[in-house]
Amino acid sequence: MSLDKLVEKAKKLLKSRRVEPLGSGVYNVVGDHGTYIVVQDYDGKVSCNCPGFVKKGKCSHSTAVLILNRSSRKRRTKRSK
Ligand SMILES: [Zn+2]
Repeated sequence: MSLDKLVEKAKKLLKSRRVEPLGSGVYNVVGDHGTYIVVQDYDGKVSCNCPGFVKKGKCSHSTAVLILNRSSRKRRTKRSK
């Protein structure tokens, strides 16, 4: 899957509210083929327990969490731009 497709899918997950923060950098993501746990560590690195992430090191679920945190950070720093 290309990166663009991954981001597109991630945005869809966010839009349909399938990314649920459980606290402490842990997210419950309801994917098309199952529910997965995405964990984000202090460095902002994410990992997911879906087969796609285990194989390729990236997936729409972990990307969705990255997008979620990127946009919330943007909202907080209004002055930059
Ligand atoms: Zn995943």
